[in-house]
Amino acid sequence: MAVQEKNFWLTTVDILRTDLARPLPETLDVAVIGAGFTGLSAARTLAHGGANVAVLEAETIGWGASSRNGGMVLTGLKLGVNKLISLYGRERTQRMYAASLATIDCVEQIVNEERIDCDFSRCGHLEVACKQKHFDDYARQVETIARQFNHELRIVPRQELQSEIGSSIYYGGMVDEVSAGLNPARYVAGLALAAMKAGATILEGTPALKIEREARRGNQGWRIITSRGEVWARDVFVGTSGYTGAATPALRKKIIPIGSYIITTEVLPDTVAHELSPRNRMIYDSKNYLYYYRLTPDDRMLFGGRAAFFPETENSIRQSAEILRSGMIDVYPQLRDVKVEFIWGGTLDFAFDIMPHAGQMDGIYYAVGYAGHGVAMATWQGQQMAKMIAGEKPENPFVGIPFPGAPLGLYNGKPWFLPFAGAWYKFLDWVS
Ligand SMILES: Cc1cc2nc3c(=O)[nH]c(=O)nc-3n(C[C@H](O)[C@H](O)[C@H](O)COP(=O)(O)OP(=O)(O)OC[C@H]3O[C@@H](n4cnc5c(N)ncnc54)[C@H](O)[C@@H]3O)c2cc1C
Repeated sequence: MAVQEKNFWLTTVDILRTDLARPLPETLDVAVIGAGFTGLSAARTLAHGGANVAVLEAETIGWGASSRNGGMVLTGLKLGVNKLISLYGRERTQRMYAASLATIDCVEQIVNEERIDCDFSRCGHLEVACKQKHFDDYARQVETIARQFNHELRIVPRQELQSEIGSSIYYGGMVDEVSAGLNPARYVAGLALAAMKAGATILEGTPALKIEREARRGNQGWRIITSRGEVWARDVFVGTSGYTGAATPALRKKIIPIGSYIITTEVLPDTVAHELSPRNRMIYDSKNYLYYYRLTPDDRMLFGGRAAFFPETENSIRQSAEILRSGMIDVYPQLRDVKVEFIWGGTLDFAFDIMPHAGQMDGIYYAVGYAGHGVAMATWQGQQMAKMIAGEKPENPFVGIPFPGAPLGLYNGKPWFLPFAGAWYKFLDWVS
């Protein structure tokens, strides 16, 4: 089979298609923008609570990062715990860390309750150290996480690493058994069905173009202008992640869209698959410009990274495939003669402080900023924000933290600085 510029996960599922001619509802309790994990999880919870809710999706269900990712359901946050404590203090960091563990339970619970057939498995994750000093830092992290958050991670010294990974290039590893893996396209498809079963409407091919305040019959609310007409909603919740656009200009200025790319090999013989990843972990390395990789449920090697920083285009996908293939062979020389069958890309959402953020901006609810750590966090944020919109006071330590914009305000949503940021991260990996 020749290499295809195509998302492997999408070959494993037929995602339901909705009727594109379906008229828009006139009024809603809540309009959710974006049919990824964030929006669909929110819609499911809101609909269960009895709200009249519709999800407006510019493209198709799961079209964004939610069907394109590595399917790693990860504990922790992008920033290290010591950094988090220095920024937010002990108490809030403890709540953030607890939330990051709750996100995995949240996904597992939804998968079980809705019987989503998505190969969810608590296989754990393995972080591998690219330098001795990265490995030395693992011991400090494990100690802090055990002491502050009562959560056990396991250090794997270099001489024992073969029991975790069939590569000899790393200086050691750190395992978290709580993390999980799943097939993201099947998961997002199942989440959409669950939201619909609960009573939510999903409107594909319906981009929100403009969102304006408008009171109706004495109720404060929003007029949402779409390519297919208008709809009025009491509340709006935005879950557009790396695809956040002109409809929410204030949010767009806070989010940097960054491309991430994945290659997937042909199906590997059992023995090879077992040698590469004996415990079937979700694996990523310790660099800023990192690689992440795992076996798929049918034993392909799925290997991803931020090979080019720009959001995906045909060119960036092709160039990234070459870079990723050579990265994969550096990690696993055993794969030198193995065929790559699929390549694709998607867009991540980074806030300037690399933190998740949720709350209300100019009256519109949102949850964004997952920084490549969004399968579990997006699902959880959708659920928690839905509860908040419904008037509850759910735990959410990411609401109310400062949400910085670009330094000196030098950003209008078009990431002109990405080549510099890419070079900067490469430099940091070289020196740190
Ligand atoms: C290649 C890649 C690999 C990744 N790997 C992992 C991983 O292994 N583990 C992990 O935890 N995270 C990973 N991530 C991140 C994770 O996929 C995302 O954080 C998560 O899917 C975000 O979900 P979301 O619902 O917020 O956004 P998305 O799934 O991106 O959905 C946003 C949706 O909003 C729609 N939209 C945008 N604007 C509008 C509008 N105006 N009107 C209507 N609709 C609109 C878009 O069409 C899109 O469908 C990866 C991401 C990528 C790209």
